[in-house]
Amino acid sequence: MPKYEQHKVWLNGKVVPPEEAKISVFSQAVLRGGSVYEGLRAYWGAERENLFVWMLDPHLDRLFDSMKVMRIDPPYSREEMRDAVVEWIRANDFREDMHCRLFIYLEDAGGLDMKGYGSAEVEAGMFISGGPRKAPERLKNGVNLGVSSWRRISDDSIPPRVKAAANYQNSRFAGVEARVNGYDDALILNQSGKVAEATGACVLAIREGELIAPPVTESILESITRSCILEMYGKYIGKPVTERPLDRTELYVADEAIMCGSGEEVTPIVTVDRVAVGSGEPGPLTRQLQDVFFTAVRGNDEAYEKGLTPVY
Ligand code: PMP
Repeated sequence: MPKYEQHKVWLNGKVVPPEEAKISVFSQAVLRGGSVYEGLRAYWGAERENLFVWMLDPHLDRLFDSMKVMRIDPPYSREEMRDAVVEWIRANDFREDMHCRLFIYLEDAGGLDMKGYGSAEVEAGMFISGGPRKAPERLKNGVNLGVSSWRRISDDSIPPRVKAAANYQNSRFAGVEARVNGYDDALILNQSGKVAEATGACVLAIREGELIAPPVTESILESITRSCILEMYGKYIGKPVTERPLDRTELYVADEAIMCGSGEEVTPIVTVDRVAVGSGEPGPLTRQLQDVFFTAVRGNDEAYEKGLTPVY
């Protein structure tokens, strides 16, 4: 795994050495999981000799949505946050593929305990941490998923639409169970028994050329990569894209299946519950989508120029 603790951290307006990047044991973030964040990637574009943050604005949009739902007053403006990401990458002089977290956390709420919400009662802080992250083997070989016995959190309890760090305790239950059972990762069903998502990525199926994606009301994070992939599939593969609920057994009979997200990028799913998806190897349309995706993120597709924030 990448070692993010070796690199400088942006913490509340300052770039500090990692050993100085500390938050309080009295913070709501530590005590109750009071935080929201974004996981972002930047890619090195060899042809243009620049590093490009991928889809920074959509990530900031989602972060502001997460803060709104969680009633957290934003500690910085969008522009300040955009500048902070670029400033932090430059301070570390990263010039290779990398990943970072832009993290908003609730400080100590004093006597108000966990019910304080306005900035007069509980301040929010922000940090950015991360580092280089190389393409993992699973992009080539795919992953084996097992359907979890745990169900996905839902909008009426802990909304999965919000990218709250606390939501990842649900992912952890499923992910640990999957590992204990010998799978690479878990596939989590929602409260209706339909496919929601993986522990940290969205799930898509391809059946007879049609790309099928569980809608954003199926207890999933409103994934930025998912939106990109749905658009790219229609645009470059030229076959139908359908957003509709997806059954577990549709993955058993699908020709191809994909896990997608900023962290997972475009990862082939080769088995589900030890049932081979298609041939049990990464499929041709998944490979094509990977090509299209990596061409865009490295700054070689004009159609996605707007999704790139050049760092240097
Ligand atoms: N679902 C979950 C639970 C995730 O953690 C992620 C990764 N952020 C995704 C989906 C994919 O979202 P995105 O494409 O915006 O990274």
